[in-house]
Amino acid sequence: MCGITGAVGLKDISNVLFDGIRNLEYRGYDSCGVALMNRNSIIVKKNVGGVGDVYQKENILRHSTHLGIAHTRWATHGQVTRNNTHPFLSCDKKFAVIHNGIISNYRDLKTRLQKEGHRFDSDTDTEVIPHLLEKFYQKTSDIEASFVQTLNLLEGTFALAFITHHQPDQIYCAKRESPLLLGIGDEVKFIGSDFNAFIDHTKNAVIIDDDEYAIVSKDGYTVKNFVTNQEVEKPITRIEWDSETSKKGGYPHYMLKEIYEQPQTVVKALEVEEKTLNRLVDMIHKSKSVQLVGVGTTYYVAMYANYIFSALAGRYIPAISSDEFVSLSPADKNSFVLAVSQSGETYDTLSALKHAKSKGAKTGAIVNVMGSSISRMVDCPVLQGSGPEICVISTKAALAQMILLTRTALKLGLKDKKLTQKAYNGFMKSLKSLPDIIEALLNERSGFIHRIAHQHRNVKNWLYLGRGVYYPIALESALKMKEVAYVHAEGMPCGFLKHGTLAMIDPDIYSIVFIPPNSEKVLYQATLASVEEIRARSGFVLGIHFDERNRNPDLFSEELILPPVPPVIAPLIQMVIAQLFAYFTATSLKRNVDKPRSLAKSVTVG
Ligand code: GLU
Repeated sequence: MCGITGAVGLKDISNVLFDGIRNLEYRGYDSCGVALMNRNSIIVKKNVGGVGDVYQKENILRHSTHLGIAHTRWATHGQVTRNNTHPFLSCDKKFAVIHNGIISNYRDLKTRLQKEGHRFDSDTDTEVIPHLLEKFYQKTSDIEASFVQTLNLLEGTFALAFITHHQPDQIYCAKRESPLLLGIGDEVKFIGSDFNAFIDHTKNAVIIDDDEYAIVSKDGYTVKNFVTNQEVEKPITRIEWDSETSKKGGYPHYMLKEIYEQPQTVVKALEVEEKTLNRLVDMIHKSKSVQLVGVGTTYYVAMYANYIFSALAGRYIPAISSDEFVSLSPADKNSFVLAVSQSGETYDTLSALKHAKSKGAKTGAIVNVMGSSISRMVDCPVLQGSGPEICVISTKAALAQMILLTRTALKLGLKDKKLTQKAYNGFMKSLKSLPDIIEALLNERSGFIHRIAHQHRNVKNWLYLGRGVYYPIALESALKMKEVAYVHAEGMPCGFLKHGTLAMIDPDIYSIVFIPPNSEKVLYQATLASVEEIRARSGFVLGIHFDERNRNPDLFSEELILPPVPPVIAPLIQMVIAQLFAYFTATSLKRNVDKPRSLAKSVTVG
């Protein structure tokens, strides 16, 4: 969940570590710290707060050193305090450790170590690691052997790194189920929990796999498996993203930048090669049962696809929240499980895929990060090519996933003769019109959306309502509001209202209703009927709908009217509008938009 970085090589890497860890801050950010190699000792500086604050408070840049590691924490064990901040030292202060993940057997290990006389300063699971390293080193005087012994005792998930005063020119690191990479520069080598840790310095990376550890020095690195003790040959992966693409480019927040990048993201999703999607279509076509999995936003993307596959391909493909997948256990050897993940490291989705594989199912995934665990573990990966998404809240990546799933559904419909070639061409034409439409809307409507968001910024409770495929759009849009503005928003199918929630409607409950184009007559009319139900109880309704001719100020308390568009892209356009609405509500409430409280970008813990 957190960010790990480390560097060895240059005369002074303090600045490099600072940039690296700041680029990772979006992964987890309640506290941060560094361990720097000094001639006489390891210097540890850490504190609660963001990277910039802690660097300043602790005056970290004044220490010049050739080797160090740094960490931003997203607490899982122990409160957000200075003592619980990484790095952690062994009793003799010769080992400094940072860790991402959870050591699930830490209680047993800690009790044993305490009995043997080790003193602990924190409540974290991580702190057992420096003490284990120290203990084994005292017996063996061999750093590598002590590391392997330690790793084989750890249960749970980890990407971890340590430096030791016994070998002041090396960084040791290892991983199981949490991402870890090496960055290979000429004069300097890096470790990082993702490319952003070192993308400013090198585009050459080595992806560390589960159960592997690496020893990294200025001049090179070795990678070995800590279970088999075999050395592993690792290919160099060239990173396609450049650091400029990762930066804010003049926007006040990454979230806004990424919302505005959506026309480009859609183009990229439309450019994903036919043959890649054809493989996916074949897998779906020949599998008896297919399930979509995702969690959070990607679960809503999967739900959206559930509707799209039914509508365009006549195929019922249920969406299951990744964290519930194991309990439902729907997969067997005749199944195909298709995962959706931005980072490709989402713990819950990885677990669902592993479970599916253990049952003999085939797997596929739509992911944004190449080389990520999910992209490498599935039979059929599809890289969406959306470029880095830095804001913790997903916008452009989710839209691209919806486009790719729509393309997949169209191809399946064609293959299974549920769609004619003519209908297929028509739908594709509509999809291709999306980038220009989004571009125009973002330019023309953001002022208006800003105004209504600001006006209603103090509303405490929103209902987000939609029918059919607009229902997952309502859910996803409500999630945006919750995560970025911390405002209560509940997504619901319109038809559900009268089965309970209608009792709550009064002038203090505000609703946003996603209304389909009136060419979808049945859905349109049924949605308007729900609006009537709310208005009859004096509830406020903001209607997002299409076509000036449908303007209806008697029915809606507030209207946001979009130009007429083809039905297949209508829900996507409304989703983009709702992203902006959440964004502007958050800025009006002065929220920390790119780094909302308690959240982290790639949720690599269970
Ligand atoms: N479990 C560790 C802790 O709570 C690491 C959390 C993280 O990944 O940042 O300190």
